[in-house]
Amino acid sequence: MRIAIGGFQHETNTFAPTKADYRAFEQADSWPALQHGPSLVSAFNAGMNIPIAGFIAEATRWGHTFVPLAWCHATPSAHVTEDAFERITGMIVDGLREKSAYDAVYLDLHGAMVCEHVDDGEGEILERVRKMIGPDVTLVASLDLHANVTERMVMYADALIVYRTYPHIDMGETGARAAMHMEAMFKGLPKQAKAFRQIDYLIPLTAQCTMSEPAAGLYRDVAALDGIVLGNGRVSSVNLATGFPPADFAGCGASVIAYGDTEAAANEAADRVARRMAESEPLFREKLWSPKDAVAYAMQKMSTVGPVVLADTQDNPGAGGNGDTVGVLREMLAQKAQRAALGVLFDPQSAAEAAAAGEGGRVKLRLGAKTGGADEQPIEEEFEVVKITNGEFLATGPFYGGTHMSLGTTARIRSGGVEVVVASRKAQCADQEMLRHTGIEPSELALVVVKSSVHFRAHFEPVASEVLIVESPGPNIADHTKLPFKHLRKGIRLMPEGKAFAG
Ligand SMILES: [Zn+2]
Repeated sequence: MRIAIGGFQHETNTFAPTKADYRAFEQADSWPALQHGPSLVSAFNAGMNIPIAGFIAEATRWGHTFVPLAWCHATPSAHVTEDAFERITGMIVDGLREKSAYDAVYLDLHGAMVCEHVDDGEGEILERVRKMIGPDVTLVASLDLHANVTERMVMYADALIVYRTYPHIDMGETGARAAMHMEAMFKGLPKQAKAFRQIDYLIPLTAQCTMSEPAAGLYRDVAALDGIVLGNGRVSSVNLATGFPPADFAGCGASVIAYGDTEAAANEAADRVARRMAESEPLFREKLWSPKDAVAYAMQKMSTVGPVVLADTQDNPGAGGNGDTVGVLREMLAQKAQRAALGVLFDPQSAAEAAAAGEGGRVKLRLGAKTGGADEQPIEEEFEVVKITNGEFLATGPFYGGTHMSLGTTARIRSGGVEVVVASRKAQCADQEMLRHTGIEPSELALVVVKSSVHFRAHFEPVASEVLIVESPGPNIADHTKLPFKHLRKGIRLMPEGKAFAG
């Protein structure tokens, strides 16, 4: 078969300070730059932990060929601009105009895109694609575990296949599962009935980690439903998206999507997962620490068997933060923390000033808090410059999965027992190499602070003695009751077992 393939990934935090324009999608970071036309297929290889890479590898195995549309992504931020959405969706839809050229369509989507002019980004993309290809051409999309899935998305796609891990170590594998589902459809899978359930509480990102309960058990149960027979029908695919909470629109929240040979089978599978989600609500509650208490706790413990790792979740660049707030760092300096490091602070100006001072030099900096998302002032302090790098290195942990990272000029600076890795590009600290390439060995420290919510766990948790979630300035608000929501579904609880949104 000839499969038209494309993708358009964005996770929108509608409360974040910066929008995603066309340029944000055009450039490469830890994932490839925008691909349009034939380069799209060769830009991805089988080992990459990216959905479309897994899809291409699996569909190739079945002997299929590809019609490249367009593929791109941008790091999470506020709304996708109208210009970016229309240009990129236009490329995808235009590529489908020649209807005799393809037999099916696969799209690599995130599922939590909010645009300046459209709330339900992926619903809009899938509707426009469906209208172009007609009702009978197979349309399958893969989605991030943080998708905020809508009825409209479910309606226009034949199947939505969702990641099952957070940290997302199965992105490539999910693309492969989408290809296998499509293959089953090519081989005569009966037209599948769909069931969709929206869960009535928001789950904080830090509580969604599938390395611990309740998410670990939930996703095990979801996977076990694939292929089983319920009543009079076989279930082909069951999907749970735990949602991306800082998105102020009616589709925000967790959801279940099930496909089966009969309505009854699809409904029963979806209801089983929805019931498990209802039972699990109390288990999704999680303690948030103040920076002061968290730093004091780690300093009192002074672990010699791996650091206490503090997740500075609210400033996570993977969820709309700019990676430059200094709430935890200020506390580390105030408490004169020892054997302590923070990574990665985004501050190109300070990195350049440290580089100018040179290794072994001293430099007076106004550090961090420059992009103005949080109501904070930079830290004014003199630092010793320990190491300067060009920020080019290989990530070795399971999340970035062997990708080459480019952080620009990067400085390791020190004040007393506190070290900071300052980079010229924004990146979520989810790999030990982000510290280690400057000579810091995370496993030997007593305290490590990472600007990440959960992805860091894949590489840092094995060496950590403990992980604490910290509530420090940043736009990825962990306590959703503090977000100025206006457009959620009425009645949805803002936190597990918390108060309901009144509208
Ligand atoms: Zn995600």
